[in-house]
Amino acid sequence: MRIVEILFYDTNKIKLVVEMPDANRYTTDTFPELPISLFELFPHLAEHRCHNEYGYSFRREARNTEIPHLLEHLIIELQTQAQRHEVLKGETQWNWRVDPRGTFHVHVEYENEQLVLAAVRLAERIVNAIDRQDLQVIDIDAEVARLRELAQLGADLRGQPPPEGPPRGLELAAVPAGIKGGRAPARRGSRKRRQS
Ligand SMILES: [Zn+2]
Repeated sequence: MRIVEILFYDTNKIKLVVEMPDANRYTTDTFPELPISLFELFPHLAEHRCHNEYGYSFRREARNTEIPHLLEHLIIELQTQAQRHEVLKGETQWNWRVDPRGTFHVHVEYENEQLVLAAVRLAERIVNAIDRQDLQVIDIDAEVARLRELAQLGADLRGQPPPEGPPRGLELAAVPAGIKGGRAPARRGSRKRRQS
């Protein structure tokens, strides 16, 4: 998995363009170690709300979902591990009538620019390390401690008071009504998306 583009919006949202190297292997049912490892590392992921086609809990959904959708939740989780947030939302979309197969657009909200960028890169490293069965190269506790330092730096740069800690970790993805997640084939011109 590669994050090939990161776009910051001034609405406190980023958009990532994510490419899956094997366009036939982009869901977690082909990569069951990924959700298992992530839920072990970050048990709070089980508290995430997730809007998906069948109304599954996020834990159930994660067993068979698009890997970039899991990345989206991981980026939200890492931000909340480092800094207290109210609600962060995300959404994963793809439209392979327009983009090359295997391309995803992942939208994630943030409050702290420095923190979200570090969370994106750490999430990318974690997913790829699990893929390589090489997770031991990442010291998760040390990385989360670094995220907290960066969160503080980001707050300092904006002249804001320091982030309140410790993070609550539960105020995660909320679901606006009326958004559809889609795994079914898209109709012409329609866009698939998965909302957190
Ligand atoms: Zn979700």
